[in-house]
Amino acid sequence: VKRAHTRAELRSAVRGARQAGRRIAFVPTMGFLHEGHLRLFDRAAAHDAFVIASIFVNPLQFGPGEDFEHYPRDAERDAELARGRAVDLLFTPGVGELYPSGGSRVLVVAPGLSDRLCGEFRPGHFDGVLTVVAKLFHLVEPDVAVFGQKDMQQALLIRRMVVDLDFDVEIDVAPTVREVDGLALSSRNVRLGESERRDAVALHDALQAAQSAFAGGEHDAGQLEKIALAVLARTPAVRPQYLEAVEPETLERARTARAGTVIAIAAIVGGTRLIDNHVLT
Ligand code: AMP
Repeated sequence: VKRAHTRAELRSAVRGARQAGRRIAFVPTMGFLHEGHLRLFDRAAAHDAFVIASIFVNPLQFGPGEDFEHYPRDAERDAELARGRAVDLLFTPGVGELYPSGGSRVLVVAPGLSDRLCGEFRPGHFDGVLTVVAKLFHLVEPDVAVFGQKDMQQALLIRRMVVDLDFDVEIDVAPTVREVDGLALSSRNVRLGESERRDAVALHDALQAAQSAFAGGEHDAGQLEKIALAVLARTPAVRPQYLEAVEPETLERARTARAGTVIAIAAIVGGTRLIDNHVLT
């Protein structure tokens, strides 16, 4: 796998791929790669494209007191894992490379969407996400970019940004990859202690309970939330920030659940914040 640390190196690799007539598929990540990321790489490759993955822990999307400094990082391990999959170029810029003036005066914001759910608990988070993704899209100029359903609100915001700001890129959203017991893979899972790791499965159990009740004929969204919350409450070490049934395009609270309604959840386990979601079927 080729490496690029600077914009200039990236540009030159992109130019090379374009001259060779390749399409470009892009997968932005914050690294500390796991199978969830690797499946996004596979999916990018399936677009018959030159695959560019970025690894950048974006300071702009972390609030004060959040875990920017302590976010798990391992550049060598990441390069090794990317090498095992169909990644053609790994873009690993330093903070100064993407923010030469120390930050960004101009932000991409999405009022009404970025302040819902996670945005309520992480003010400014999605402004940072949208801004860095917009920058990366300008630098990489991908034909297609792949994101994970695990970060449902992020994927929705990026789809909206691309439509509303006329980015010429297709957004492909890949299903959530889970551990055998159902816990969604996340770079932050390494922080879970042994008992926290066992408790963390409660998020998935709660989502499954809502799905079962829905399949059993419960279509009142408020009832589904209650059922899921009751399952979460069985594991007091898991402290929910929110658990909501929402409309998939607007994130408005659903009143009547239907196929496509999303149950979204964020919870703190020990010191670690975990999110997950399930699209009702
Ligand atoms: P991150 O490195 O956590 O910022 O994630 C980078 C990309 O990987 C995002 O599009 C995430 O939605 C996606 N991702 C993270 N975890 C998973 C997972 N368990 N399954 C599928 N995609 C994931």
